[in-house]
Amino acid sequence: MAHEAADAQSYPMRGVQQPMREQTVDLPQVYISRHPVIAHKMTLLRDKRTASPAFYRTVRELGALLAYESTADLKLEPVRIETPIELMTGSELAGGVGIVPILRAGLGLAEGFREVLPDAAVWHLGLRRDERTLEPIEYYNQLARSNNLQVCFSVDPMLATGGSAIDALNILKRYGVPHLRYVALIGAPYGLLKLREAHPDVPIYLAALDERLDDRGYICPGLGDAGDRQFGTL
Ligand code: URA
Repeated sequence: MAHEAADAQSYPMRGVQQPMREQTVDLPQVYISRHPVIAHKMTLLRDKRTASPAFYRTVRELGALLAYESTADLKLEPVRIETPIELMTGSELAGGVGIVPILRAGLGLAEGFREVLPDAAVWHLGLRRDERTLEPIEYYNQLARSNNLQVCFSVDPMLATGGSAIDALNILKRYGVPHLRYVALIGAPYGLLKLREAHPDVPIYLAALDERLDDRGYICPGLGDAGDRQFGTL
């Protein structure tokens, strides 16, 4: 019996039915990048020979590229400025931007987002699951209430089973954070479907959608453990 419980903890996806990639690729409000530079950098990340410093740098670069893609429809408002030559009406983002990295693996992506959006507020969120009840526990929460956000990005590199993505968005909604979007590097069809069903109002941006989860819940072909590879804790 104890043996079976330990097995279920180590292999949570064993025997679990998973949707096929083709069943999830066209879900509503799911945007999977087609940008060649993103595909190129994703291959660098996936390669097991890529060591931690280059891995972290590439996650940051991908964060910047995904920030660019996932902000393409943000609203602008006019602003009067003076160039060295004359007065003109320019544009500025209408309202602030929030970035919520899910600790610890979301930190590299958040850094990349900040390179594109240096004025964004960054709210760190640490989540883990109670192993007995499977309820999410916030072990770190630096969320702030803000009613002047145009958009708030929850960033986490791997959308695997969808559990922490769903929990994070539940918490952000409880805080009243408006206009949420979710950004990850790689999604698995299983987690993508779960997240789409749990939060149909939240647009999802991915650099790639992979094939499946293995018995341990790792994305295949994936890139391994995104936290360990960023921070050299292999
Ligand atoms: N988390 C990771 O870091 N990698 C996976 O493949 C799944 C979850």
